[in-house]
Amino acid sequence: DALLWATHAAAPEWPRAAGINVTDSGFIAVNRFLQSTSHDFIYAAGDVAEMIGNPRPKNGVFAVRQGRPLAQNLRLALSGFHPRPYRPQRSFLSLISTGNRNAIASKGPWAAAGGWVWHWKQRIDRKWMHQYRELPKMEISQAEMDFTARMKKNLKTTDHKGREEKPRMRCGGCGAKVGGLILHEALRQLKQPANPAVVVGLAAPDDAAVLTVPAGRPLVQSVDFFPSLINDPHLFGRIAANHALNDLHAKGATPFAALATAMLPPAKDWILIDQLSHLLAGAGKQLNADQATLVGGHSSEGRELGLGLTVTGTVPSTRILRKTGLAPGDLLILTKPLGTGVLFAADMDLKLSATWLATVVNGMLVSNAAAAAVFVRAGVRACTDISGFGLLGHLREMLVHGDAGLELWPDSIPTYPGTRQLLAEAVSSSMVPANAYNLSLLGPGPWDLTPERTLLLDPQTAGGLLAGVSEETASSVLEELRTAGYPEAAIIGRVMAKGTGPHVVLGKP
Ligand SMILES: Cc1cc2nc3c(=O)[nH]c(=O)nc-3n(C[C@H](O)[C@H](O)[C@H](O)COP(=O)(O)OP(=O)(O)OC[C@H]3O[C@@H](n4cnc5c(N)ncnc54)[C@H](O)[C@@H]3O)c2cc1C
Repeated sequence: DALLWATHAAAPEWPRAAGINVTDSGFIAVNRFLQSTSHDFIYAAGDVAEMIGNPRPKNGVFAVRQGRPLAQNLRLALSGFHPRPYRPQRSFLSLISTGNRNAIASKGPWAAAGGWVWHWKQRIDRKWMHQYRELPKMEISQAEMDFTARMKKNLKTTDHKGREEKPRMRCGGCGAKVGGLILHEALRQLKQPANPAVVVGLAAPDDAAVLTVPAGRPLVQSVDFFPSLINDPHLFGRIAANHALNDLHAKGATPFAALATAMLPPAKDWILIDQLSHLLAGAGKQLNADQATLVGGHSSEGRELGLGLTVTGTVPSTRILRKTGLAPGDLLILTKPLGTGVLFAADMDLKLSATWLATVVNGMLVSNAAAAAVFVRAGVRACTDISGFGLLGHLREMLVHGDAGLELWPDSIPTYPGTRQLLAEAVSSSMVPANAYNLSLLGPGPWDLTPERTLLLDPQTAGGLLAGVSEETASSVLEELRTAGYPEAAIIGRVMAKGTGPHVVLGKP
């Protein structure tokens, strides 16, 4: 006899542990809106959920059909509208492969078996998988349409008699500021630690922040701004703050205050409060970790979510790190991997795996504060941070005013997982063509955009620091960096006296 052992889908532990209503079998109990019966802001579908009054077997046929109503109801709920009821189908076609290229089909009272059923199942399954592998390219016009649709949905208002008004054109100038109540609520949720250098800050917001600057210490300031590259305002706030702080770390400065410039797409008030509070909480968290306090800012409506920070720090005049000053014999140390540009370009094309995304985001959250401290202690001769102009663009800034040239070792450059594979598949950031003029450092060209050269042009967000370190200290500096939390820090080249050849030579001689 043959023993057949069939197992049922089992529910995960976490919904019950989180206090969400679950069925006897542990699945999230949802109503006909796919809404949790205990928490109306939680929606669930597929294997994890069970619809009260309409339970269905746990299989893909039902899970797939629930996707569209789930997405629709999430959109409706986020725009402040009522979700719509959903009724799952009663009968469905079952196709079960029995091995040996045979399968059984059944629907209601009808059943069939044979090789042709197996081929039929193959065709359905492959067509389904193909939809996820070959995703349609998103055109800008689609994004424009989404924006307009969102405006219309999110901004419906009523007049004084409660009649629905058509959305109005949005004002510019100061009429585009985010409303005072929204700002007040978002700032109320923001907790900033006390900082003796802040005389007037967000504890009692005023027209301007007032700061005390330590006597005799030069002030260091820098500003950055960019649109969000990730669909999570809190994480984006952290990344934007880290990116802005990089400029201070590259000068050896200690940050102490920051002003935020936030841009939010028009939406209902509660969505704006949510976005702004998460954005500022993320930025504040990263600033506080590097000893800086958020002391004020400005917020405005705009086409997409964006955040900029004006960061302020101080540095003893004897300790200022500069871009120039590379000396022949110095070794170049990079503290963090390259690849944020190409990875996020792949993300926009829906080609980025979740693991690669998680790794690069974690990398972008690593502050360069500890690396800067290592470089300052080691008395490095030149330092900068790698950002939008890519490695080659920032090397140009280090080289052009001096007599140095360098050997750059592409194989030694650390990269985030996925970077080299995507470059080999000809994925690249839209910034690469603008950065390509820096290839002239390699000689007169013309230069093809090979994967190796494209890596050198890849724009970095919250990238690493690049420093010229004397040959005698380089290995101990590298050791210290690795212990300080930069396991991928690497020596990526050597500075040479500039001869008559190109500024940069690729590869070891
Ligand atoms: C071997 C096998 C064969 C099957 N064959 C068929 C078939 O031929 N026809 C059919 O209709 N159905 C089939 N099914 C059932 C079908 O696969 C499921 O019903 C369907 O995939 C359920 O879809 P879902 O989106 O609800 O869940 P899933 O497809 O399981 O997706 C859930 C996702 O959430 C992720 N996840 C889980 N926990 C977390 C977390 N904490 N954080 C982040 N992500 C998390 C998981 O990694 C997973 O990617 C089969 C199932 C199995 C196991």
